[in-house]
Amino acid sequence: VIPEALLYEAKAWKHCDKCRLSRTRRRVVYGSGRYAVPLVILGQAPGAEEDKTGKPFQGRAGKLIRKTFEDIGFDMEDAFTVNTVACFPPGNRAPVASEVNACRKLFDAAIRILQPSLILAVGAVPLTALTGEVGIGKHHGKMLPGYVFNDAGELEEFKALATFHPSGLLRSHSKERTAAFKQDLSLAVETVTG
Ligand code: SF4
Repeated sequence: VIPEALLYEAKAWKHCDKCRLSRTRRRVVYGSGRYAVPLVILGQAPGAEEDKTGKPFQGRAGKLIRKTFEDIGFDMEDAFTVNTVACFPPGNRAPVASEVNACRKLFDAAIRILQPSLILAVGAVPLTALTGEVGIGKHHGKMLPGYVFNDAGELEEFKALATFHPSGLLRSHSKERTAAFKQDLSLAVETVTG
């Protein structure tokens, strides 16, 4: 189900050195999933585990989002997952705007090729990169316009929904946010399968 154009695009980024994250990463984590349903999950950045394995959402935070999807009867591999930056930021810090800007052609291209019905932005950095909005607490759980650039620098609009990043939930232990996270994921699944 993954279009050839996306596989071709992934190869083009394998040795990318457009930003300083290229100096500390082990590998470029392009994205993964079967794309059996028209959902793109836009994560923040690869963590240490993803840097080792080459697949997004593998560490503790990855386990939490996979398990939450499983609990609502959805296999995350049926979507396609990419990150706002494809290389591990040292110390697991959030990527900065210059790194997201250097890397956004990667997720812009993936989204344009896949043409999803919905993009689920997981965390504050993906929310801002995709919608321009700031504040995940305020904007999660709502359908928002999300934008990617085409090669001519024009904006293409997609439907977007934001939710909390699972690593933030692991840190905060907030029951309220964890419940909202599950609701947001359910809404995303309903939107693409309902
Ligand atoms: S984060 Fe993106 S732009 Fe930076 S080196 Fe990695 S692939 Fe290239």
